Amino acid sequence: MTAADILQLADEIIGGRRLGRQDGLSFLADGELSALCEGADRIRRALCGDRADLCTIVNGRSGGCPENCRYCAQSAHYRTHVQRYEFLDAEALTEDCLKNEAEGVQRYSIVTAGRTLTGEAFEKALAAYRMMSGRSRLILCASHGFMTDEQLRQLREAGVTMYHENIETSRRYFPQVCTTHTYDDKLDMIRRAKAAGLTICCGGIIGMGETVQDRIDMALDIAQLGVESIPLNALIPMKGTPFGEMPPITEDEILRTVALFRFIVPEADVRLAAGRGLMERGGIKAFRAGANSAVTGNMLTTGGTSIRGDIEMLSELGFTVGGCSEAENGRTDHA
Ligand code: SF4
Repeated sequence: MTAADILQLADEIIGGRRLGRQDGLSFLADGELSALCEGADRIRRALCGDRADLCTIVNGRSGGCPENCRYCAQSAHYRTHVQRYEFLDAEALTEDCLKNEAEGVQRYSIVTAGRTLTGEAFEKALAAYRMMSGRSRLILCASHGFMTDEQLRQLREAGVTMYHENIETSRRYFPQVCTTHTYDDKLDMIRRAKAAGLTICCGGIIGMGETVQDRIDMALDIAQLGVESIPLNALIPMKGTPFGEMPPITEDEILRTVALFRFIVPEADVRLAAGRGLMERGGIKAFRAGANSAVTGNMLTTGGTSIRGDIEMLSELGFTVGGCSEAENGRTDHA
């Protein structure tokens, strides 16, 4: 496909066309990168406008996870130097939430290590969400692994409006990433969270040895799920994990992935997440290649960026940070 064809396709997407498996999508893997980025930027401007969205993730419970995700320093299967602690105190989380709100983020997400969150730890999470929703206007996002329908209902009642669950990669490649749970477990979790009235944040990780076709397949599955936000993480190889020696992914590969997600899921927030440090100025070029949101601040075990720096960069690019839709912010009026 020529550069002109790619831009023509971008215009068709703006006009309402949606790409599926039946379309020849090889241009996303081998098309000219500058044309893909320009087309994706055009789609983002037309369908999402200049609104940008920032979220902060806090690690609410760290380490000792029984699952074996091969990229993750928190898995108990691997010898890493990650800090271990139980669910954080509600007051401390609320203070952190309010601090992030004052600094200008729109969403606050608590992520916990583990297959799920139950018992006392789950009660502590509910208490924290209740306290935060009473004192902050931020959109609250939860990421606690596999929840029951009843737990989802309780989270919602406590003020959570978004649930985060990554599918990580393609269905084909998933068994190379994790064997203690399945791709279908994740799809089921996402569908149930949606059915419980939560909006969905769902993305994945690139640079784990998958092909570009796997990234395209992941985007096609995410498009089917109808998600609001798509966090794209570039693998930061963590010492001691099976993926600890993976070669770092290039900025061009990240840009191509951002652009292909914008072509395939044109109306969602395409969110830069972990690995922003691999890119010039935390990913400035990605915001001209289809991205319109980011995880900011200290990102779990992989290091992050500064909120103020992100707001300045986005303003420089002509984005307005904040101003989420009414539907997203159903609570007031989780990455
Ligand atoms: S990604 Fe989550 S489920 Fe997988 S090992 Fe890490 S903490 Fe556990």
